[in-house]
Amino acid sequence: MWKIDPPVHTAAFSYATCTSRIRNRELRERLDQAADEVAASAAKYESAAESSELYLLDQDELSVASLTGVEMIAIYKYRMAKKKAVGRFIYDELMLAAPDGRCPMCGQRTVSTLDHVLPKTLYPALSVTPLNLIPACSDCNHIKSDAIPVSAENEPIHPYYDDLDGDPWLHAAVVHTSPAAIVFSVAAPINWPDSLKNRVATHFRTFKLAPLYASQAAQELNSIKHYLIQLHARGGGDAVRQHLSGQANSRRMAYANSWQTATYTALADDAWFYQGGFAA
Ligand SMILES: [Zn+2]
Repeated sequence: MWKIDPPVHTAAFSYATCTSRIRNRELRERLDQAADEVAASAAKYESAAESSELYLLDQDELSVASLTGVEMIAIYKYRMAKKKAVGRFIYDELMLAAPDGRCPMCGQRTVSTLDHVLPKTLYPALSVTPLNLIPACSDCNHIKSDAIPVSAENEPIHPYYDDLDGDPWLHAAVVHTSPAAIVFSVAAPINWPDSLKNRVATHFRTFKLAPLYASQAAQELNSIKHYLIQLHARGGGDAVRQHLSGQANSRRMAYANSWQTATYTALADDAWFYQGGFAA
């Protein structure tokens, strides 16, 4: 859901690197035969991803005739993902692409693995295609599992292709309870096409971002409570509001759509909260 720079290496380079040290003659022949098909499958994937149409890709169209799926997956496992493997530097570069090590799918947890956008079990031809590999946290990787997009609405938000950071879309609201709570939702900008609105809503629901952010925000409210009580004693609700507004602006400069930005924006806009609700 959060944009990251696309990888610099092509599928052809990745495949050639990962298979470079295989000397067995029979296998070598088949690996060389498969090279063009790997590149052609990657080209079809790229073209579909650019127009958010991965859901239209036919599994049979992205295949490699001279290698089995198991063999393609083994190239990823043992020649790319494995420590000290010949293609491991490509894996490491992909892992490091996420700014601050933050998972682009949830925007919160730390990157710990690579996720195949189109699963390698169903699309083995894309096993080592860098554009099909995104850094992710283990929770998001687990949630997604082997799911594949089946319609325009559930096409996943792709961190290499979709850039949502230009518009504020994550909305937070203060719940006037004791203690105060924050609830999160998607407030899609009106200029977004319906398909994008639906995709973001699906992503938000699938990856369970509302409860994840609510929990984080609850901890944040608890941790700033005593500071706000002191601030209020010195300067009243206005001082609290100004502080919260400054916090929101600083966080907005870092990430326009983080739960922190949305939370502080909501807190600074909520008179009940800054006039004393923070101590409820
Ligand atoms: Zn995540």
